[in-house]
Amino acid sequence: MEKVVIIGTGCAGLTAALYTARANLNPLVLTGVMPGGLLTTTSIVENFPGFPEGIDGYELMTRMQKQAERFGARIKFATVEAVEVSKRPFTLTVDGDPIQAETIIIASGAGHRHLGLESEDQLEKKGVTYCATCDGALPMFRNQPLVVVGGGDSACEEATYLTRFASTVYLVHRRDTLRASKIMAERTLAHPRIKPVWDSVVTEVLDVKQDKVTGVRLKNLKTNAESVLDCAGVFVAIGHLPNTQLFKGVIDMDENGYIIPKEGSITNVPGIFVAGDCSDHVYRQAITAAGMGCAAAIDVERYLAALNQ
Ligand SMILES: Cc1cc2nc3c(=O)[nH]c(=O)nc-3n(C[C@H](O)[C@H](O)[C@H](O)COP(=O)(O)OP(=O)(O)OC[C@H]3O[C@@H](n4cnc5c(N)ncnc54)[C@H](O)[C@@H]3O)c2cc1C
Repeated sequence: MEKVVIIGTGCAGLTAALYTARANLNPLVLTGVMPGGLLTTTSIVENFPGFPEGIDGYELMTRMQKQAERFGARIKFATVEAVEVSKRPFTLTVDGDPIQAETIIIASGAGHRHLGLESEDQLEKKGVTYCATCDGALPMFRNQPLVVVGGGDSACEEATYLTRFASTVYLVHRRDTLRASKIMAERTLAHPRIKPVWDSVVTEVLDVKQDKVTGVRLKNLKTNAESVLDCAGVFVAIGHLPNTQLFKGVIDMDENGYIIPKEGSITNVPGIFVAGDCSDHVYRQAITAAGMGCAAAIDVERYLAALNQ
């Protein structure tokens, strides 16, 4: 019987692992298919405090894992396939085997929605990105035309943020009005460096042969006309998908699948806690996820202490 099982080894899961390990709870931490989480997919992280020169995302996550292991966290390369939380202890099916746990921390993160283009995958990290706050300031994007794909609040935020660096930001949207809130849409469209490209979708990111982004091929959905728009970067901002399907119908979540805690990290099921991007559609940063992991660990510790009184 495990005192605490942590689902996920991103910033949230590994921080929760560090704190629960230091509280002698001997956590079992399950990596899922992406050990180290989303940050391992980026090269340089420049905004995680404590690293004035920046740090490689993979290295940062390796260090977090080592730090948690130093205090006794057990990291297991395995994926949770099902959960049974109607009875205590909880039962998780992990790569076919049952594991019983007194408490669970869900730190399973959220993935970015992709355009679904082969060229997009091939040029990821070579000009295609999913996070302006993370990557916008990189030298490759400075004083260059950039494309943001999307029409919601996130796309508007990304486009506005990128005006700090870009020569022009093209906002490519499949409709002829933005889905974003009125104030956000007005502010975005009023910006002199943001140019909307209406009724259009990206059909290809160029140029795979050159192994870097040089432009996008566009299709106008009203006229079917094709065109090429030169740019140095493509920021895809068409939404996120939280990895919370396992808990659908059991744990309270919003219509997009983000877990809604009752208070702090505490969910509607006593003994189940949540941390990181799977419950955060607002900040989505490494440091905020780590902070939420810390909070969840402290909440677990207090919950178990109260149970055993
Ligand atoms: C390209 C890119 C660059 C970024 N750059 C920065 C940056 O510079 N600075 C910054 O602050 N933020 C950056 N971010 C955002 C940052 O990566 C996230 O905010 C952070 O990783 C969220 O941490 P998390 O622990 O909540 O989730 P994640 O990092 O997404 O980790 C989720 C974990 O859950 C596991 N998991 C999922 N389902 C299961 C399951 N069923 N069973 C077991 N495990 C499971 C996954 O395998 C993974 O280990 C970037 C994101 C991307 C995509």
